[in-house]
Amino acid sequence: MRRDPERLQQALEALDADSRRRQRRLIRGYPVPGDSTRVLVDGRVLCNFASNDYLGLAHHPALAGALGQAAAEFGTGSGAAHLVCGHSAPHHRLEEELAEFTGRQRALLFSTGYMANLGAVSALVGRGETVLQDRLNHASLLDGARLCGAKLARYAHADAAAAAAQLAAHPSTSLLASDGLFSMDGDLAPVAELAAIAAKQRAWLLIDDAHGLGTLGEHGGGTLELAGLGTAEVPLLVGTLGKAFGCFGAFVAGDREPIEYLLQHARSYIYTTALPPAVAAAASAALGLVRDEGWRRVQLQQHISRFRAGAAALGIALTGSATPIQPLIVGDAARVLSFAEALAVAGFWVGAIRPPTVPAGSSRLRITLSAAHRTEDIDALLETLAALLRRAAA
Ligand code: PMP
Repeated sequence: MRRDPERLQQALEALDADSRRRQRRLIRGYPVPGDSTRVLVDGRVLCNFASNDYLGLAHHPALAGALGQAAAEFGTGSGAAHLVCGHSAPHHRLEEELAEFTGRQRALLFSTGYMANLGAVSALVGRGETVLQDRLNHASLLDGARLCGAKLARYAHADAAAAAAQLAAHPSTSLLASDGLFSMDGDLAPVAELAAIAAKQRAWLLIDDAHGLGTLGEHGGGTLELAGLGTAEVPLLVGTLGKAFGCFGAFVAGDREPIEYLLQHARSYIYTTALPPAVAAAASAALGLVRDEGWRRVQLQQHISRFRAGAAALGIALTGSATPIQPLIVGDAARVLSFAEALAVAGFWVGAIRPPTVPAGSSRLRITLSAAHRTEDIDALLETLAALLRRAAA
């Protein structure tokens, strides 16, 4: 676009016309210390159903304590990239713990999940090769394919037969990549089938379980624990630390060779400042709680069941999602915005997700549940939603 303020203005106005302009809501504080579900926004206290803090760890005192202690010892910044002089003991320990937690030989920390996916995809796939991806994969996986100049082939969402057909049609495919738990739909990829398909063609399989790790499976092992799959079937696993782990950062886990290869070749690993060591220390504390406090996952599952049963009783039509991500498909972008605003007036923060994050015509309320919610919060949200939908239908 030429440097022309008028054209920028027109482009922004077009977003308004389509109800697609995004707004940041300013959090002024957390009125209940230690409780991440209550946020002070625009002079109101809202119950937060928009966050990915699925286990309620982001405000846990053990994490803040570990962060403060490590900051006092290692400083607030890492000072450089990992391969320069930014790799310190808290990073290294966290990598070892993540490898053990995921049952893999090695894990490599990235500064964000976006960068982990960008780096892994673009390092593993050569120009002229093909990356095969689910149509609803996270933007960072799609952008990784664009970055390396590979051909991007997409298959119908969560459709293993479509993936197999695409793979047969593109023999140059070197990587098959999918979200594990889909961030906007809450459903799961058919990981066992994808693993069989990728193995048959000797393509890498990368599963990005940003939302599943920590939240799903008895031990928090995510989508792959539910499916009973290990490194042999899924050689590359991406996880994030900013969601169930309540911190920040991400990692790729796998066998020693592919991880060493990423360390040497992933540009989003090499050319960026390492995560603050204190954040890595907080993530280690989080990992201990994710591992040892299984009751958080049990509580989360109880909330999911309560939410779904309550919605059914009230005639609220949900999707089939059995995870903490519960979308309520509205369709129209303007309508979903007005719903989210009405919910905020009633004291609830729910995300209004619109294109291009989701396909046109599938705008939705993205309701996320956390172990930190109370059953009364869930009941109250359901009552409010039901009243809202009744009023809209009248
Ligand atoms: N993958 C998926 C599936 C995600 O939903 C997200 C975050 N929205 C990311 C990767 C990126 O992770 P991060 O926020 O750590 O950059």
